[in-house]
Amino acid sequence: MCGARPDFMKAAPLYRAMRATDTLDPVLIHTGRHFDSAISEDFIAALELPEPDVHLGIGQGSQAWQLAEIIKGMEKALLEVRPWLTVVVGDVSSTLAAALASATLDIPVAHVEAGLRSRDETMPEERNRMLVDRLATYLFTPSADADENLSAEGIPASRVFNVGNVMIDSLDWVLPRLSAAATRARFGVAAGRYGLVTLHRPANVDHPGALRRLIGALAEVADDLPLLFPMHPRARRRIHELGVDLDDTGIKALPPVGYTDFVALLAGASLVLTDSGGIQEEATVLRVPCLTLRDNTERPVTILYGGNELVGRDPERIVTAARRRLRAPSMETGRPPGWDGRAAQRIVDVLAAAAPGTTVETAPTRGGGTHDASDRPPPARMLR
Ligand code: UDP
Repeated sequence: MCGARPDFMKAAPLYRAMRATDTLDPVLIHTGRHFDSAISEDFIAALELPEPDVHLGIGQGSQAWQLAEIIKGMEKALLEVRPWLTVVVGDVSSTLAAALASATLDIPVAHVEAGLRSRDETMPEERNRMLVDRLATYLFTPSADADENLSAEGIPASRVFNVGNVMIDSLDWVLPRLSAAATRARFGVAAGRYGLVTLHRPANVDHPGALRRLIGALAEVADDLPLLFPMHPRARRRIHELGVDLDDTGIKALPPVGYTDFVALLAGASLVLTDSGGIQEEATVLRVPCLTLRDNTERPVTILYGGNELVGRDPERIVTAARRRLRAPSMETGRPPGWDGRAAQRIVDVLAAAAPGTTVETAPTRGGGTHDASDRPPPARMLR
């Protein structure tokens, strides 16, 4: 199931790994969020995914409306396809709606990227993450902090599989396919001489005062380092409403760029300023200093292993941190355990062993069974 931009990067390696088995026959469902908008650059083609088997064609609307529409569409699709399992990725509305529709039909759910927590329940994504993890039978986590979060919430360890990060599978897949220098030339920048910005979280773009201050801070950073800003449609709309003209600054506004272009630009940037989840992870692996314009992250491993730093929304703090990072760009970073390009294969190994017709001794159970949420779960398994 895919809906929003980052879902494709998460689904593509899973789809490929499933297709390579004799036991798993994937059916790709596109919920349609973003499909008709400016953001639907051809991620499907860039990641060499086939056209989705099912398009629900759900458009833009309030979160409640989207959830309701996707649940209805998913129910119909699931009744037609009759899968033994639904795999959902990430933390968007489609993820929650697909998990709910599956649960009501007693179809088990596997959640890829389970266990991440920002502990900020005002974020729609945090609520989606928590609810989907409650509904899931298989919880595939990217990092040890996620295992700990699930354990603290009483989710039995028998359902939790620490497999690494599928987003990095896609990153490793796309890196050898890039023409990074040609891409940078096309965007008029040279490696190490520019920064990259992305903003789309409601807390940053939906409050005119906060957005105005953020743009002011970015403009100040851009006095020292030209910034490329591929704009999410939501950010573009809000900035337009503010009446701010970025042409007066060192910030170059762009439409959202395709995945291969974005990775090429990120790899050559000397700094990234973002509120995205996935970009914090990609910056970690690409060793690009990252300033996260939020007060929290559901991906603390990017601070522990990478060059990510939470700088919040205060302009002075953002500008000071940017100048400091530009003065001393070198950083000791490494890939977190399991961020090795093979996460999807580990997930598929678990699912192939559990597929109907296969006998497994340790298939997770929900409800009855031998595992009870009140049991103290053993530590999650790190699969290699
Ligand atoms: N991305 C992209 N083009 C852009 C901005 C981001 O291809 O203009 C990619 C980026 O490389 C990452 C993903 O989109 O793989 C992150 O998506 P987003 O920030 O929308 O979602 P989040 O990760 O915050 O859920």
